[in-house]
Amino acid sequence: MTGHLGLSDEQDALLDLVRDIARREVAPHAAERERAGEFPRAAFDALGKAGLLGLPYPEEYGGGAQPSWVYLLMLEELAAAHLAVGLGVSVQTLTLFPTYAYGTDEQKSAWLPPGCSGEWIGAYCLSEPAGGSDAAALTTKAEPDGDSLVITGRKAFVTHGGEADFYLVFARTGGEGASGISCIFVPANTPGVTREKVEHKMGMRSSPTAAMVFEDVRVPATNVLGAPGEGFRIAMQALDGGRLGIAACSVGLSRAALDAAVAFARERQQFGKRLVEFQGLSFMLADMATQIEAARTLTLDAARRRDAGVPFSTNAAMAKLFASDTAMRVATDAVQVHGGYGYVDEFPVERYMREAKVLQIVEGTNQIQRLVIGRALGRQE
Ligand SMILES: Cc1cc2nc3c(=O)[nH]c(=O)nc-3n(C[C@H](O)[C@H](O)[C@H](O)COP(=O)(O)OP(=O)(O)OC[C@H]3O[C@@H](n4cnc5c(N)ncnc54)[C@H](O)[C@@H]3O)c2cc1C
Repeated sequence: MTGHLGLSDEQDALLDLVRDIARREVAPHAAERERAGEFPRAAFDALGKAGLLGLPYPEEYGGGAQPSWVYLLMLEELAAAHLAVGLGVSVQTLTLFPTYAYGTDEQKSAWLPPGCSGEWIGAYCLSEPAGGSDAAALTTKAEPDGDSLVITGRKAFVTHGGEADFYLVFARTGGEGASGISCIFVPANTPGVTREKVEHKMGMRSSPTAAMVFEDVRVPATNVLGAPGEGFRIAMQALDGGRLGIAACSVGLSRAALDAAVAFARERQQFGKRLVEFQGLSFMLADMATQIEAARTLTLDAARRRDAGVPFSTNAAMAKLFASDTAMRVATDAVQVHGGYGYVDEFPVERYMREAKVLQIVEGTNQIQRLVIGRALGRQE
């Protein structure tokens, strides 16, 4: 979507650059990469070289120093071209956040520049086989040994697992519950870090999702981000921003599905008329377009709150909930608009429908988003 209000000339040019990369290096390969389950590292390299992998972070660390809402417009463009790339960039931004927000000057100088340039791809390891929603119950341990921490445990559903250059591991350094968790930076080549299995997923197969094992993984104690025991707070703060990323990806995917449905409905004829001339069908398209606009507005509004430094967690949960439900609905309706052609892979909409489902699950299921929103309502006077 072009013509966003409030963009400076420089930001307009930046989004043109993103659209150009999306059109040349991402969209043309999306279907084939999905079929082959190929991780699009080349697309990340191109984005990193163009300075687009650390867009919200300071320039001194190789970032783009852009506000959240401009970063989210970039994600929308990338996800419209290929969800695995948009979501991958969102995950990269998520993995850099703890270093940016909680890192010492030394940690920032060492870990942010390679992350912003794409030299290093990151992965965020919170979920475990026994639980994703109840993350505070995690059991991966990090025990002190001299100047080191020794990490042992299993992490589930790690995006970029096995492809990443570093892992942010949330592990227990203290007692039970949220206050016993720390956030630890683990280079991928540390002995004991192994990929157990790559999940075979319903969709988004270009984005590797793996079970990771950490077996006696020894890292310097100075690899802890923030204070020991502060990890859960860091994880949740990172997810607040991550949820906005998922919302923006949802808007991008929805837009791609709508564009495909509109193009098909303008072209195909039945009963001597173009499909788009049947009110029953054009109303469906009108609802899809309206829901997408609403999802984008909710997402950008939450981002502007973040940029203004006011609380935005509840708004981020609302945006993620509404935008991902919209993506699921819009992608399903786009299949319907295509009739039988929607169900075969000659057209992209069956892929969009499979991809949309994951957006209702990752970074807190939509039940968990409702829980966050409901809790906030309970707190209000
Ligand atoms: C493709 C993919 C990529 C992912 N990438 C990552 C990643 O990079 N890093 C990472 O840490 N995790 C990642 N995840 C994990 C994801 O965050 C979890 O799958 C998600 O949080 C749900 O956890 P779970 O699968 O254990 O389901 P569960 O927590 O077992 O939930 C099962 C069902 O119960 C519902 N439920 C649970 N608790 C409640 C409640 N209190 N009230 C109402 N309903 C409830 C859930 O909504 C869900 O419908 C990824 C998952 C997928 C599928």
